[in-house]
Amino acid sequence: MTYNLRGKTHILMDCDGVIWRGNQAIPGAKEALENLENQGYQLGFVTNNSSLSRKGFYQKFVSLGFQPENYLIINSGYGAAVYLNNNNLSKIFMIGEKGLQEELELLEISVTASYHQDLQAVCIGWDRKLTWTKLADAMWVILNNNGQFVGTNPDNSFPSIDRLVPGAGAGIAALANACGREPDIIIGKPNPFLLNLSLKEMNCSDSAKAVFIGDRLSTDIHAGIQAKMDTILVQTGISDFHLKKTILPTCTLESLAQIDQLI
Ligand SMILES: [Mg+2]
Repeated sequence: MTYNLRGKTHILMDCDGVIWRGNQAIPGAKEALENLENQGYQLGFVTNNSSLSRKGFYQKFVSLGFQPENYLIINSGYGAAVYLNNNNLSKIFMIGEKGLQEELELLEISVTASYHQDLQAVCIGWDRKLTWTKLADAMWVILNNNGQFVGTNPDNSFPSIDRLVPGAGAGIAALANACGREPDIIIGKPNPFLLNLSLKEMNCSDSAKAVFIGDRLSTDIHAGIQAKMDTILVQTGISDFHLKKTILPTCTLESLAQIDQLI
């Protein structure tokens, strides 16, 4: 193996399919992370999942036996809140779950579930109670108020315990179809927004000092390339290896457990 982490200071990674799968830690992941921290690397975790807040993810790390005290944790719900805040959009119609609402309210964005003329934007994430009425109200804000259309993450499906279920991207696509226009932004990977936000929050001004590890070429590796980072593909998640001719990771490992070979 010729690739190594020489010169790198910040290691960012996806969660599902890299360090855990559903509610089970991937074998060797905890030891690998502990080792990286002992070697002095700053660790960041970047997930498209908006169903939990960052606080919720922190608790998930703890419950699976990880030691997240010094981890940076970023998800698409928090990213959406930062985006809305940066664009002075503080009155929002939200389609999503508690985790997204928590992140929006932390940045003093007022969230409502009924439409009215003052609303400036729609923020839509994963919502397991999505209804026709919610879509109709969101559509009203976008079309009648000329509201911004912000999606948390484009994932069309989500691996549930025994089957694939619709992801946030399915709801975003339905709303886009109804409105006859695409969202103004979808925050999650492959958009490099969350990776750039992570570097900023870790005070890393040079993306060449960072590496991003993920299990999906179309989202993780594509985002890492756009953020001008080295990328490592691991093969412990949902793989889309058919894309390997067009989206090229810097390096491929079987699993995170092998990362000590690159130090
Ligand atoms: Mg993944």
